[in-house]
Amino acid sequence: MTLPTHNTDVLIIGAGLAGLSAANHLQRAGYKVLVVDKGRGLGGRLAGRRIDNASFDHGAQFMTTRDPKFVEQVREWIEAGVAKEWYSSFPGQANSHARYRGVPTMTAIAKHLAVDISVKLGTTVTSLNVNRDGWLCQLNNGTSIQSRSLVITSPVPQTLVLLDSGNIQLPKDKSDRLNRISYESCIAVMAVLDQPSAIAAPGAMAIETGPIAWISDNQQKGVSAIPAVTIHGSGDFSAKHFDSDRDQVAQQLIQAASPYLGAAVVDFQVHGWRYSKPIIVDNSPCMVVSESTDLPALVLAGDAFAGPRVEGAVLSGWAAAKSLIDA
Ligand SMILES: Cc1cc2nc3c(=O)[nH]c(=O)nc-3n(C[C@H](O)[C@H](O)[C@H](O)COP(=O)(O)OP(=O)(O)OC[C@H]3O[C@@H](n4cnc5c(N)ncnc54)[C@H](O)[C@@H]3O)c2cc1C
Repeated sequence: MTLPTHNTDVLIIGAGLAGLSAANHLQRAGYKVLVVDKGRGLGGRLAGRRIDNASFDHGAQFMTTRDPKFVEQVREWIEAGVAKEWYSSFPGQANSHARYRGVPTMTAIAKHLAVDISVKLGTTVTSLNVNRDGWLCQLNNGTSIQSRSLVITSPVPQTLVLLDSGNIQLPKDKSDRLNRISYESCIAVMAVLDQPSAIAAPGAMAIETGPIAWISDNQQKGVSAIPAVTIHGSGDFSAKHFDSDRDQVAQQLIQAASPYLGAAVVDFQVHGWRYSKPIIVDNSPCMVVSESTDLPALVLAGDAFAGPRVEGAVLSGWAAAKSLIDA
């Protein structure tokens, strides 16, 4: 086996909000941290995309705040210019609660969190092995990383495959809890329009029934310079059609969205999120898998733990960092 190309105190798998939040806390506490992500960009499910002059938030659309620590975090992001309130109510509805968006796009928040963090993108951890110094993690490019501790933030079904790759035995109670976690999938269509959409201010619609769960107007939102909408298939529709021909599925969603668009689609792309939002979550903020085992420090984090949304991912990342700092 070749020598590892990197040595670090903590390797974090995933540059989504959980991984980057954990990285910031650990680095501030004096740990040497490295984050790797298989994606080309930062942010995981806070994803953005461009089609020529059109820009899209095509993963998470907004953040809500409940926990006082996360309220404070969003206030800091607003001060830093990477977040702002998008809306707090739809026309004709009683005022509900604030939805915050990234500025200019949701990924700005991830970019902001990663400023001082060492991140390797386009890097997949393919297998995990325990050795006397901690974790030896093999990468898709044939190299490896040696780390004393490991934080994994991938969606839990992917984490289980990774743990299996190194034949890492989990305590039965933890394995049962992890196997209970489940996610809904989401087929997202990004469509460029020939004129501004007919969607009323604030430029978003949640739809209760039918194939579409959500449509947002990226131009009204301030994300796109030209008319461009994101259409999210409902959980049921997306699960049913996840493995069907993507362009045909996208056409079905565009067809279903046409009464709301009031404009013609001139170009589109489609993306399938197999693990979009957790529907069954664990009731702990993170899972310290190595606790009461002979394993080197291993913590699982992400939105499947502290809550199925952006806020949950951040809180879970912080909890994972705290569990290592307090150990
Ligand atoms: C379509 C959609 C709409 C949503 N809308 C909202 C919303 O409006 N509001 C809200 O609060 N939440 C929303 N969410 C949920 C929100 O996006 C997530 O809760 C949150 O972003 C999860 O962050 P995370 O860090 O836990 O996971 P992720 O963002 O998924 O990060 C995990 C990262 O791990 C990486 N990874 C996985 N395996 C490996 C490996 N082997 N090696 C290296 N890297 C790996 C992945 O590439 C990924 O970047 C939405 C999600 C989707 C998909």
